[in-house]
Amino acid sequence: MKLVKLIANLGYGSRKDVAWMFREGRITDAAGEVLYADDKVEHAQIHIDGEPLDPPPGLVLMMHKPLGVTCSRKDPGRVVYDLLPPRYRIREPALSTVGRLDRDTSGLLLFTDDGALLHRIISPKAEVTKVYEATLAQDLRGDEAALFASGTLLLESETTPLAPARLETLSPRHARLTVTEGRYHQVRRMFAATGNHVETLQRVAVGALALGELAPGGWRALDADDVACIF
Ligand code: URA
Repeated sequence: MKLVKLIANLGYGSRKDVAWMFREGRITDAAGEVLYADDKVEHAQIHIDGEPLDPPPGLVLMMHKPLGVTCSRKDPGRVVYDLLPPRYRIREPALSTVGRLDRDTSGLLLFTDDGALLHRIISPKAEVTKVYEATLAQDLRGDEAALFASGTLLLESETTPLAPARLETLSPRHARLTVTEGRYHQVRRMFAATGNHVETLQRVAVGALALGELAPGGWRALDADDVACIF
């Protein structure tokens, strides 16, 4: 693929914009040598304004989703895509969230432009674990862990019971819940089914990939080792 098209597809601007970037000498190799639009260079060598070019399609990001932003592109309010550099919003193929977190849920949110990887992560068959920490309005009753682990819990208006999930009690009103599915408002509805109410909810890990010290609103690109941790 021609360099202008490759760089434009990554969202750095229109092909005309990128052609200007070449003319202005802003596109260089790793050593700072100015590149020309017809040069043949490896992706990893290309720099724009001294910064390495974003990775080719196959990009995976993790974000610490803050409270109060939604995962829907169509929401008129603040959306998670607003927290990424503008070029990620016009990148082709498009970057999508891997599943969603509610507006009032914070924590680990993945993005990718790799449709096959996205489906591999969210497919119930893959049984990728999602780990949440919830604070609750009332003390745990004591029978929730057995109920959630039973594989018989039926959420309101659903016909298929939930797959077994693991509950760890951190304190009377604080629990860690590990699930392998991603049903609508699943964690809130699981606690609602026990007569409780989730007051705060954070996703702390997906597979063995942990949120760690990433600050709310922060994000980083994942490498192959990080992605391998998800499965
Ligand atoms: N379960 C919920 O109830 N909400 C989320 O955002 C994620 C899981």
